[in-house]
Amino acid sequence: MRPVRIYDTRTRETRRLVPRVPPKVGLFVCGLTPYDDAHLGHGKLAVTFDVVARTLRRFGYRVFYVQNVTNLDDKVLRRAGELGLDPLTLSERYFRGWTGAMERLGVASVNYYPFATDYVPEILAQIQALIDRGYAYAAGGSVYYSVARFAPYGELSGQRVEALRPGARVAVEPEKRAPEDFVLWKAASPGEPTWESPWGPGRPGWHIEDTAITVRLLGARYDLHGGATDLKFPHHEAEIAQAEAATGEAPLVNFWMHAGLLTTQGEKMSKSIGNVSSLSDAIEAWGPEVLRFYYLNAHYRSPLDFDPARSLEESREAYATLEGAARRLREGSQASPPGEEGLPPAEGRAIEALLERLDELMADDFRTREAIALLFEHGRRVSEFLPKLPALNAEAREALAAPYAWALEVLGLCPVRPGSAEGAGGVEAALNARERARGRGDYAEADRIRSDLNEGGIVVEDGPGGARWRRAGPSEP
Ligand SMILES: [Zn+2]
Repeated sequence: MRPVRIYDTRTRETRRLVPRVPPKVGLFVCGLTPYDDAHLGHGKLAVTFDVVARTLRRFGYRVFYVQNVTNLDDKVLRRAGELGLDPLTLSERYFRGWTGAMERLGVASVNYYPFATDYVPEILAQIQALIDRGYAYAAGGSVYYSVARFAPYGELSGQRVEALRPGARVAVEPEKRAPEDFVLWKAASPGEPTWESPWGPGRPGWHIEDTAITVRLLGARYDLHGGATDLKFPHHEAEIAQAEAATGEAPLVNFWMHAGLLTTQGEKMSKSIGNVSSLSDAIEAWGPEVLRFYYLNAHYRSPLDFDPARSLEESREAYATLEGAARRLREGSQASPPGEEGLPPAEGRAIEALLERLDELMADDFRTREAIALLFEHGRRVSEFLPKLPALNAEAREALAAPYAWALEVLGLCPVRPGSAEGAGGVEAALNARERARGRGDYAEADRIRSDLNEGGIVVEDGPGGARWRRAGPSEP
């Protein structure tokens, strides 16, 4: 395992990751509340922690990555009411939309997506433990967490409890003992899905879902917790207060990782503000790699200000340069059999040093922007060698391609196109994209993907069980 240093929000320091049970690393990321289409801000969070997981796996850690699904909460209930749908059907539908977007975006690193409502027994047990230990109280059929009982509350976000008290605009729940107390169990309201509990029928509060899931799946203490920075308070403070009080073990996690928000003109992209750009539309319009490039060409902790008119156009142009060098190298290598010449020794050493530097940057709190800058530099080297490519031997060609293999593995950029030796995954992805294009009636796009595959030497055959592919024989085009 390569040593990795990560910034921890709670202690405000960058430290070496020491897994609790090496080489395993438990990673939990606060997932989505599926009540509407995902927007570009959700995509940033997903790609951020996808790259964290990819990097750690490359370095030899066995990452178990869990992202929860808040499939029932106030927002889901409100939207379901508006649309006249069952709330759990609604959230299931948007969750499927989410996994479809993740597949297209190349986010395949999540091991498990637990649904909150599948963990009601764990939630009830954790609430009971909090009552038994004197951290929670039942009132009016609901259960609340008594924030004053947990001294470290506010440590993560750096705030004092008094400052965290909701203002007058927040409707005060009369049964709460203190305004900062938060709900663990909500008494049933008419028309909502409810579960039986010792305190009467009701449903879980938002914060308790996450700790019930993580204590069950990752243990009372685990390695990494990720989320967007706006979740620090109250959500992550509440997670710490619940889990550490219920289990008596601390700290809940060794590293709190917070990703910077995606903003538009300085404001968080958010449904409630109405300044959202749909993730699916952006993937459709710009392609998944341009989006990944856009997110990763900044440090994950920085906020990213999205300009609808410029941001993705600029990323498209820059990414075309980066990917273009990789593609010309690949196509040039395929076009001519390897020659006799090796790389000049200094160049070979420079590429070795580059690969080492790329890993070093990622091992230092995931410095993707600087890694991308090095890949651009390598692109200039590749362009210099392109005219000499026919003379270069296989080893030299492989050395020139190695930084792009790194980019694909770690950043999900510069993928191998169908038709190349390593392209099987690419063919499946292309066939899926073709299926989706057909599904929405875009036959021109479906045909384009098919002819791209044909050009790469892949024959597509449509049959009753769906599309199948094989490599073209020597007599076929
Ligand atoms: Zn959460």
